Amino acid sequence: MGRPFSRRHFLLSSGAVASAGVIAARPRGGSSEDPGVVVVASDNGLAAVERAYELALAGTLPVDAAVAGVSLVEADPADQTVGLGGLPNEDGVVELDASVMCGPTYRAGAVASLRNIMHPSQVALTVMRRTDHVLLVGEGALRFAKQHGFREQELLTEASRLEWLRWKESLSSEDDRLTPEQAEAGFSGVGGGGGKRDKRETGTINLCVRNAAGDLGGCTTTSGLAWKIPGRVGDSPLIGAGLYVDNEVGAAGSTGRGEATILSCGAHTVVELMRGGLHPKDACLEVLRRIATRTKQRHLLREDGRVAFNLNLYAVSKAGAFGAACLYGPHRYAVATKDGVRHEDEAALYER
Ligand code: ASP
Repeated sequence: MGRPFSRRHFLLSSGAVASAGVIAARPRGGSSEDPGVVVVASDNGLAAVERAYELALAGTLPVDAAVAGVSLVEADPADQTVGLGGLPNEDGVVELDASVMCGPTYRAGAVASLRNIMHPSQVALTVMRRTDHVLLVGEGALRFAKQHGFREQELLTEASRLEWLRWKESLSSEDDRLTPEQAEAGFSGVGGGGGKRDKRETGTINLCVRNAAGDLGGCTTTSGLAWKIPGRVGDSPLIGAGLYVDNEVGAAGSTGRGEATILSCGAHTVVELMRGGLHPKDACLEVLRRIATRTKQRHLLREDGRVAFNLNLYAVSKAGAFGAACLYGPHRYAVATKDGVRHEDEAALYER
């Protein structure tokens, strides 16, 4: 069951709820009849979906509501997958990726490998609104952020530094470089390449908003794969991979192994499958099926031949149907609708 909204939420939404009738009578997981505001996010986004829901209900544009929601997570040092306190790259430096996309204007903005700025989602929003570009990276992205008044600060917290040091000192094999032997060993359907991916630290927040008028917006923000090679860009800032919004169809995003999402054009493919009539959950599952069958490199496969990493896809349709799916369950995602704020189970291609 979802937890009830805050008192403030009820003040904001009481009119909408009264006109919608009995809350418990609302079908879940994708009603086609007047679903109102629908917000979906990765499992770390419970507070974020609540905030985004309240703002969307009060008339904030979906993309702005999405950024306001994920900003809570970016500012939270306890979440080591996003913003402040994110786990760093191979050199111990936090590098952030983020993207935003606005359905009604069909515009997007993104930043990649951005250092020292706590809110990459807000910089991505500024790229969207104040440039004629879509993606800024590294030094240029930082200069742009500072020009727009974003404050530089150290993002590596003590807890994240200590985790990085533990990894560094263990001379771990869990890195992203392949020896010539490992590179050549790939491309077999047989697993057993070490499965070094399944224990890697991953995490991100993706959050998509559908407002009561059916307009859509979304945001994905992350510190990326822990211990990544400096300069590595994941799926999160790539429009079509970690996020895609088509105001006529739906919005989708991803968390998990970004390389797989990039190779499958994940979020865009989910939206295209929804355009073809699939329910959001089934569209997510179909993309995961493709990823599972097209992963050929042995170091990415387990002994049993299944993929050795996890990936989550989230989607909401223009009509307000929503769903999420992962390669390996059980896994939950965050939802805010008229029924309240809650976690729901994702559909899973495999059980662990
Ligand atoms: N998708 C992110 C990336 O590849 C990481 C994650 O969500 O775990 O950068």
